[in-house]
Amino acid sequence: MFRVDDTIVAIATPQGRGGIGVVRVSGPGAPQVAAALAGRCEPLEPRRATFARVLGAHEAADQAILTWFPAPRSYTGDHVVEISAHGSPVLLRAIVQAALGHGARLAEPGEFTFRAYLNGRIDLVQAEAVRDLVEAVTPLQARAAFDQLEGTLTGRIVEIDRALLDLVARLEASLDFPDEGYHFLEPAGVADGLSAIVARLDGLLAHAAAGRLVREGVSVAIAGRPNTGKSSLFNALARADRSIVTALPGTTRDLVTETIDLDGVPVTLVDTAGVHADPADEVEQEGISRAVATRAVAAAVLIVLDLSRALTADDAATLASTRSIPRVIAANKSDLPHAWDHRLCGLEDAVVVSAATGAGLADLRAMLVAALTGRESLRDVPAVTNVRHVELLTRARGALERARVSAADGTPEEFVLLDISEARACFEEITGPRGADDVLHAIFDRFCIGK
Ligand code: GDP
Repeated sequence: MFRVDDTIVAIATPQGRGGIGVVRVSGPGAPQVAAALAGRCEPLEPRRATFARVLGAHEAADQAILTWFPAPRSYTGDHVVEISAHGSPVLLRAIVQAALGHGARLAEPGEFTFRAYLNGRIDLVQAEAVRDLVEAVTPLQARAAFDQLEGTLTGRIVEIDRALLDLVARLEASLDFPDEGYHFLEPAGVADGLSAIVARLDGLLAHAAAGRLVREGVSVAIAGRPNTGKSSLFNALARADRSIVTALPGTTRDLVTETIDLDGVPVTLVDTAGVHADPADEVEQEGISRAVATRAVAAAVLIVLDLSRALTADDAATLASTRSIPRVIAANKSDLPHAWDHRLCGLEDAVVVSAATGAGLADLRAMLVAALTGRESLRDVPAVTNVRHVELLTRARGALERARVSAADGTPEEFVLLDISEARACFEEITGPRGADDVLHAIFDRFCIGK
């Protein structure tokens, strides 16, 4: 998918101005490109930060720090030179352009990491972890990605695969010496061995749903009739004044979103128009349609009721239409005199809150986490977060379960081996020593340039 024998260059730091901007060069010609940029005849000293005047295109020059990481001990496994210059977009582009003039080519998105993968510096899980780490928006996401970068998930898969390989060796030995009887391993022993391995996979997959939430984030729609305090609660949760708060009913006609860190899960709160049976005009009607559509795709709905006023038919309709989906009910305005009691209305699970004073907000957050993850909190970093890994692990589990049943039934070893090898192929696809082209595309195309 990419050429791998030439020298690539890109700005590695984000667009815009900063104290420092980094240009990265990788490939066989990197030391020469760097020496040319620094106006030197000799290559730089390896692994030493070297202060030099760098000349970019159009005579744009800067004082920069250049570091040469000789192959293979570099990020990509090829020669890499990193040039830390002042973080001016004009200057960094001029340096890149000069590097192009010295024989480098502009890197495609993800191409540095792709080279690291091809050179065996990292496996596919780690390449995906690099992207997740760069894109993390909550500390828990970053921790999960870092664990995968460190090889925690790969290590656990390798361990499981090693146990399988041990079974495979003994089953194959049985095939090779059919006269010895069954054989090097009793069928029941094989089934037990496979059970233990399936249990290990189950352990990995147990928190996969929560892991996916952590990696991908979810949206929560805020619903309720007008004026119950949806926008106020949205703001209180987002701790920012993004939404219009007003005493006039029906003013939130468009969708307003804010992503918050809810116990490590990036949750996009969607403040929707108050849904009620009698919209004033077409604009409000449109807002209500969008609110209903948003609710349909959200992972959970936060229903806001007004404790200071009697419940209405609109409240009842909202409660009825969300009965079978994950939801949290907030009885808001607890600071005002109560017009009803949630325990007496069959709403024992409602959280009593006040957007105005902040009372009950911590409970509300905890209830939201529980509604989204099925757990009180996500204290442990989930090992599996990526849907690609979840699917392959699930497929492997299915194949191993089939192998276990076959072994328990005393089915000939060939059939057991077939299912085991399907499971092992899934493991291989996760860590990806030989990734298929479309898988590689799907992964590396989503990288940013310079990574
Ligand atoms: P929305 O139409 O449901 O989005 O409701 P808003 O957030 O715009 O709030 C409607 C009115 O209720 C505003 O005047 C808010 O200041 C007020 N309000 C919202 N939450 C509370 C609360 O917890 N306590 C009190 N006393 N007033 C609140």
